[in-house]
Amino acid sequence: MRIYADNAATTKMSNNAINAMLPYMREVYGNPSSLYEIGQKAKKALEDARRRAAVVLNCDAKEIYFTSGGSEADNQAIISAARIGEKKGNKHIISTSFEHHAVLHTLKKLEKEGFEIELLDVHSNGVISARQVKDAIREDTALVTIMYANNEIGTVQPIKEIGTVCREKNVLFHTDAVQAIGHISVDIDRDNIDMLSLSAHKFHGPKGVGILYAKKGILLTNIIEGGAQERGKRAGTENLPGIVSMVAALEDATKDLDGYAAKLLPLRDKLIAGLDSIPYSELNGDRDNRLPGTVNFCFEGIVGESLILLLDNKGISASSGSACASGSLDPSHVLLAIGRPYEVAHGSLRLSLSEDVTEEEIDYMIQSVKEVVEYLRNMSPFWRDLINGKRPHVFEE
Ligand SMILES: *Cc1c(COP(=O)(O)O)cnc(C)c1O
Repeated sequence: MRIYADNAATTKMSNNAINAMLPYMREVYGNPSSLYEIGQKAKKALEDARRRAAVVLNCDAKEIYFTSGGSEADNQAIISAARIGEKKGNKHIISTSFEHHAVLHTLKKLEKEGFEIELLDVHSNGVISARQVKDAIREDTALVTIMYANNEIGTVQPIKEIGTVCREKNVLFHTDAVQAIGHISVDIDRDNIDMLSLSAHKFHGPKGVGILYAKKGILLTNIIEGGAQERGKRAGTENLPGIVSMVAALEDATKDLDGYAAKLLPLRDKLIAGLDSIPYSELNGDRDNRLPGTVNFCFEGIVGESLILLLDNKGISASSGSACASGSLDPSHVLLAIGRPYEVAHGSLRLSLSEDVTEEEIDYMIQSVKEVVEYLRNMSPFWRDLINGKRPHVFEE
């Protein structure tokens, strides 16, 4: 059995998304800035895609900027808000300690320039409150940037309430909605969002394409200089096959969110219950207030990387919260942010499901994780210390 359970990292492209891009590689391959027919056809397809994306997001087509993905959209949103703020002398930015690195590293860069970055503490259930945001906003706050749903633990933030607080206080509000779009309902108007980032490859679209939504009147700062594409705010010949394909995937992913949740929730909860039955394990993040497909656990006495490699041997593609990809031995900043101690933050596992997961696959994943955790614990001197009482347990049995 081969199970792909890392959909929070990226997803398989849907057939619709693949088919949607083909005509724009084979036939309508013109440059949308060219004046002859094939260029103008490309231009029309580009603007059609923009209009269709605006319908899904409930905004105006002129508020949509196509980017190279979620990271670029996050960078541009935050830098733009910072430039708007500093012109008025406002250099205070509010965010959280468990944002994606595309946000956190951009904020770090601004901090070196003299911005004051305030990262709100995340509650141990992986959620922050609108109240925390309200209390943190000051006269000189230039931006609040808070993710819609966390990519590692899957918890969902009260974005509508946070948006309302920001609107009342007249502070710009950006949300990284990369993990939320196509998984739960997102509505720019309802949620009082000023800027939003999304990425196609997280909802069965292609890699290397995304959207920055910026409300009318917000002056964007270019991250990429050059031609006058995207109304002068994002240079570079448009990735038309990617854009058309992304919009097809966006429409598919958002058209039946209730059906998606109805199918995934029981399977997700069965997976949670199964992993919960492993001694000295704990779910990371709130049990209910989470994405329909994301499950993240910590297991005492285990290192995440070895868990991932052994699960791979059993045919399961999963990921660990620990930052192995960056070559660092530091545990995940998200797990530390929710208060997990170092030693258990190292032993984390994220399984992120897609809509076509079956109950049989869920059973297989539970069984495999149980076997692998037991195997690793039996080899671990650290675990021996725990069961001999030489070290205290972090979790209850
Ligand atoms: C994947 C992801 C990103 C980055 O998107 P890319 O398109 O890969 O650049 C940003 N934020 C979150 C929450 C993500 O999950």
